[in-house]
Amino acid sequence: MSSSVYDLIVIGSGPAGQRAAIYAAKLGKKVALVEMREVVGGVSINTGTIPSKTMREAVLHLSGYNYKSIYGMNYRVKERITMADLAFRVQHVIKTEIDVTEAQLSRNNVEMLSGVASFEDATHVKVTNSKGATVYETANTLIATGTKPATSDKVPINGKTIINSDLVLDLNNLPKTMIVVGGGVIGVEYTCMFAALGVRMTLIERRPRLLEFADQEIIEALSYHLRDARVTMRLNEEVESVEDHDDGTVVANLESKKKVQGDALLYAVGRQGNVDELNLPAVGIEADRRGRIPVDKDFRTKCPNIFATGDVIGFPSLASVSMEQGRIAAARAFGDESIVSNPSFYPYGIYTIPEISFIGKTEEQLTEEDVPYEVGVAYYREIARGQIRGDTTGRLKLVFHRENHSILGVHIIGEGASELLHIGQAVMALGGTIEYFVDTVFNYPTLAECYKVAAFNGLNRVSKFD
Ligand SMILES: Cc1cc2nc3c(=O)[nH]c(=O)nc-3n(C[C@H](O)[C@H](O)[C@H](O)COP(=O)(O)OP(=O)(O)OC[C@H]3O[C@@H](n4cnc5c(N)ncnc54)[C@H](O)[C@@H]3O)c2cc1C
Repeated sequence: MSSSVYDLIVIGSGPAGQRAAIYAAKLGKKVALVEMREVVGGVSINTGTIPSKTMREAVLHLSGYNYKSIYGMNYRVKERITMADLAFRVQHVIKTEIDVTEAQLSRNNVEMLSGVASFEDATHVKVTNSKGATVYETANTLIATGTKPATSDKVPINGKTIINSDLVLDLNNLPKTMIVVGGGVIGVEYTCMFAALGVRMTLIERRPRLLEFADQEIIEALSYHLRDARVTMRLNEEVESVEDHDDGTVVANLESKKKVQGDALLYAVGRQGNVDELNLPAVGIEADRRGRIPVDKDFRTKCPNIFATGDVIGFPSLASVSMEQGRIAAARAFGDESIVSNPSFYPYGIYTIPEISFIGKTEEQLTEEDVPYEVGVAYYREIARGQIRGDTTGRLKLVFHRENHSILGVHIIGEGASELLHIGQAVMALGGTIEYFVDTVFNYPTLAECYKVAAFNGLNRVSKFD
């Protein structure tokens, strides 16, 4: 038993845990952060967000993807792109991000405890590592243990030809053909990256459409791009089994009796909460079958001094939102109600190629809710910056209330979508109307100009009826 008594022990050093630890430390609390990996950063820095987004950047750069519409389909920066080229850039960014995170934690006097954390009871956490086990006393605990890729008996992951998202950069060679099982965010993002490298991709998804939570028109535009990149989409199809053949190929047998062959298969169907090591029964907390921990609006579990945030509580499972949840939970643990955060203004960034980003309601949701809305659309091809960048297929759609003109949603597909969205987010959050965009002068030439064009387009549609 250690003599230290903490105000807060945070379990897990991903985005949720980091932000919680730092916020509590800034409140003057004594905080420890337990991490079982050798390095800090969680899935976000080590295997998920940062590696995949850096790989995407390397793919776009080396393949010359953004400039093919200007210089021709054969344009590329590097003729033979290898997995090593991609891993090189990824490792560089991971290392820097780990350094930055470690520095932030130490600057804020967050004590790092290395090992696997588990509960002894509601005020004692055991940390086990190669040197043994130590029990620490704490007033509050935050579970921010994240998730790992879900497994399936049907899919024998071998780390060489059959992989999950943790193992993408372990592929020795760039395959010529590849199967992705799972049309969620991770599956579709990797499909786009490999397709941009010239890999013939087949994407298999159980549901009738990809990314069901996004605006239908935007997903139709994405599907057009996927087909244009020679991606075969097998929607409404369930994988029955996956075979790993001696000749190095992989075959996915579908329930519909189709067979799909490839040089590699990425299994990207769901994730499972990291709760097995925590000894949750000791504190009376129960996770569901996907390892998700139930919490209230303050991220408090049914045990009042134990909180949970980030991917381990489920949707939306984004690094961006996990950070905010961590901050709020740390505040609430110490009675701080000062953070006002409204989940209806949380944005989504989906780093497909082209990128998608949105906030607020989709047209389908508003139709379902009988809200009178109108849309205004701007196409990148009508905007000088779109032509200059070579993205002539992007578009920005503003969805607004046709009576009070408030912004109900912003949906973008195209270069820079995830950055561009934040202009709309700010206007929405501050209660602005579509007139704001009409009356604002944007830098020229910028993609931001899309907001003005879309606003004019939308108001023209409304005025026809007025
Ligand atoms: C391929 C991929 C791409 C993604 N892209 C994006 C993106 O573009 N944008 C975005 O916003 N989000 C993205 N995400 C999601 C994002 O990575 C997660 O939402 C985020 O990492 C969740 O943060 P977290 O703090 O909840 O958990 P994690 O980042 O998973 O961290 C949890 C940490 O807890 C540790 N841990 C677990 N159990 C214990 C224990 N018992 N004791 C000690 N330590 C423990 C783990 O080792 C881990 O380090 C992506 C995810 C993946 C997989």
